Amino acid sequence: MQNFNIKNSIRPNIATMKPYSSARDEFTDFEQNMVFLDANENPFNTEVNRYPDPHQVTLKTHLSTLKKVPIDQILLGNGSDEVLDLIMRAFCEPGQDNMITLPPTYGMYSVLAQTNNIENREVVLNDAFQPNIDVILKQIDAHTKIIFLCSPNNPTANLFDKKIIQKLLERFNGLIMIDEAYIDFAQGESWTAQLHDHPNLIISQTLSKAYGMAGIRLGICYASTDIISVLNKIKPPYNVNELTQKRALKRVLHPEDVENEINMILRQRKLLAKALEDIDFVQKVFPSEANFILARVDDADLRYKQLINNGIVVRNRSNQALCENTLRFTVGTEEENKKLIAILRLISKS
Ligand SMILES: *Cc1c(COP(=O)(O)O)cnc(C)c1O
Repeated sequence: MQNFNIKNSIRPNIATMKPYSSARDEFTDFEQNMVFLDANENPFNTEVNRYPDPHQVTLKTHLSTLKKVPIDQILLGNGSDEVLDLIMRAFCEPGQDNMITLPPTYGMYSVLAQTNNIENREVVLNDAFQPNIDVILKQIDAHTKIIFLCSPNNPTANLFDKKIIQKLLERFNGLIMIDEAYIDFAQGESWTAQLHDHPNLIISQTLSKAYGMAGIRLGICYASTDIISVLNKIKPPYNVNELTQKRALKRVLHPEDVENEINMILRQRKLLAKALEDIDFVQKVFPSEANFILARVDDADLRYKQLINNGIVVRNRSNQALCENTLRFTVGTEEENKKLIAILRLISKS
């Protein structure tokens, strides 16, 4: 049924272009004790005087083992925001092609679409915060290249129904991009295990959330070798810097530390959700599969200001579709959450 062909999806100018060949591409044998005079680097050692590995082989090798995805099906970016941008630029012809996103969702999809002059067809989620499959299918035309799914979704915090995603993967001849920035907090499994069955599937993850490394900017993209080759062709050669590669590797080598932190955050999420339910101006606490909780309150602008006045910054998501009078609370440390809860109680009494 599904008839995905990368040749019909890739932009013609990208298909025919010749990629930049860096000094590190043309000579890669670091084993030998060679004198490197090929990249116009300063020879004096600052620990970062050499260009980084453009293919991040060491880091990818460890990620490959950890995530059980072959190394040639992985691309790394300067945050997943760069990954999203590369995907749009590889497959969407500006002023001609379109993509579909499902609000309320992560704001960068629409910002990147506008930057790249790609029409963004928005199909609002249903009341259960699930994709509206019939409306999505109706929005698709010959120029629809990518459908962006965010699961768990930001800011609604829920996973999308597996069967709905499966159906979209089967019915759509273009690319399905699943943003799994929060997957490590979820009960459901990553779609990486399904890559083999779906040549049109792209998955993005990040070290910014569960891995606690938002500051180093490392995004991960998983897809078929064909798709990864196209993205490799257009990415800036040294897009992931040396410091990022080193710090990420240190973290990835200790997945048990990450696991411990995730478990602490999950315990705190449960406590925070329960506490929020007991606050009288909180009308609804939405279930969460992420490290944040969306809650509907009586007056989001008022409650947001009151929290700010008490030293706590949350996100007011009220101007997004389906999110009227909602606040998004990131789950903090036990101490931070206690402070938040105390202040919520204080405000509710005033
Ligand atoms: C936070 C977030 C990201 C950001 O990823 P970076 O790797 O930090 O660029 C991506 N997608 C969603 C849905 C997010 O909430």
